[in-house]
Amino acid sequence: MEMPTEQCGICSRQVLFSETVHVLIHTRTETVVVDYYVCRGCYEEVAPAFDEPSV
Ligand SMILES: [Zn+2]
Repeated sequence: MEMPTEQCGICSRQVLFSETVHVLIHTRTETVVVDYYVCRGCYEEVAPAFDEPSV
């Protein structure tokens, strides 16, 4: 059975879904909400920039 993968929104690597973190970015100036998946490695680096993870 193939493992589902997602493309990291930061480093663009294909990573296992279970290794990704789903992040939501609420922009301050607009009502746009950006959501994407990032690998855990990238998340560790950019986590302070996000409001909160939504796993
Ligand atoms: Zn990454």
